[in-house]
Amino acid sequence: TKVLLTGGSGFIAAHILEQLLTKGHSVVTTVRSEEKAAKIREAYPSHAASGNLAVAIVPDIAQSDAFDEVVKTPGLEVVLHTASPFHFKWTDPQKELIDPAVVGTTAILHAIARSAPKVRRVVVTSSFAAIIDETQLADPSTTFSETSWNPVTLADIHNSPATAYRASKTLAERAAWDFVRDPANGATFDLVTVNPPLVFGPVVHYLASLDGINTSNERLVDCLQGKWRDAVPATGAVAIWVDVRDVAAAHVKAGLEIPEAGGKRLFVTAGLFSNAELGQIARKNFPEDAERLPTEETKGGELPAEGERFRFDNEATSKLLGIKWRSFEESVVDTVASLKKVAA
Ligand code: NDP
Repeated sequence: TKVLLTGGSGFIAAHILEQLLTKGHSVVTTVRSEEKAAKIREAYPSHAASGNLAVAIVPDIAQSDAFDEVVKTPGLEVVLHTASPFHFKWTDPQKELIDPAVVGTTAILHAIARSAPKVRRVVVTSSFAAIIDETQLADPSTTFSETSWNPVTLADIHNSPATAYRASKTLAERAAWDFVRDPANGATFDLVTVNPPLVFGPVVHYLASLDGINTSNERLVDCLQGKWRDAVPATGAVAIWVDVRDVAAAHVKAGLEIPEAGGKRLFVTAGLFSNAELGQIARKNFPEDAERLPTEETKGGELPAEGERFRFDNEATSKLLGIKWRSFEESVVDTVASLKKVAA
């Protein structure tokens, strides 16, 4: 199958790309610069040479015509749209966060509807950020599931950087569902969204650097670099997670292997985690780094108490995808190992 994957230089997208190529699919992926394009081609020399892998440059996804050319690639059947800003290095949340998220999503959907008639399914990487209600995170009587929607609006984007990011994901996902529901847009494809909470997991060596680590793995780098030695930081109110390889598998299954996924939001999560647990797993498995890691006595980072945290239910997604979610220990061990390789 011929697949278009946006944001091929991303942490999650790199795993999607690997799984697609391993399964024998043909992939066109987009990145912002020739430098990143070259790294991806070099990582897959035989696929690049055979034409199974092509890398296209899309410099700015916040332009409404950003994807007009690349969607004309002959034979595209499935599109996986992962590109969206997930960082807090911006000054103008509208321009640098909301626009690439929302315009990027509508731009690709419009381009497909106009020029890629063979595309049967589009998978958009949304987020648990589009599911939660920030005011209910500490409420044990709230259960978040595939049917929950973040009530955030554009008016809230100056409240905090986290709220601005959550708004970007919520507004982009809403725009995607609105697009496919409006017959005037002429979509002949269906839509699936993948909504992960915090994603941990190994980084691909050809793209990663510890300074430029993807946002959700930052806490593992901090832990490994000794920043948790004296006190483990708070886990945060969103204490659920999923492994990147399972998130990638969810995209591949939803896009190419499970027709019934059409029209669904997929809430992919392996469940609760805490920073305290993360520190202990690192210490147990990497004794050579003990000096820099928290000890059993180091305080902090516990899971929020039962009476002070939300509930969640993703049974519908687990059943549909049939993925056995990786354990936190496996994920932390593999992530730390990959980070040590990058640092070496
Ligand atoms: P990364 O930062 O590693 O990847 C983001 C990707 O989007 C990169 O390819 C990046 O390109 C691209 N991108 C970001 N901003 C722009 C822009 N303005 N124009 C063009 N491309 C842009 O993060 P992840 O892999 O974690 O994120 C991938 C997707 O998953 C995003 O949609 C994110 O919201 C979503 N997500 C991630 C979660 C997580 O915990 N990691 C949780 C839930 C959802 P470049 O390499 O050039 O910067």
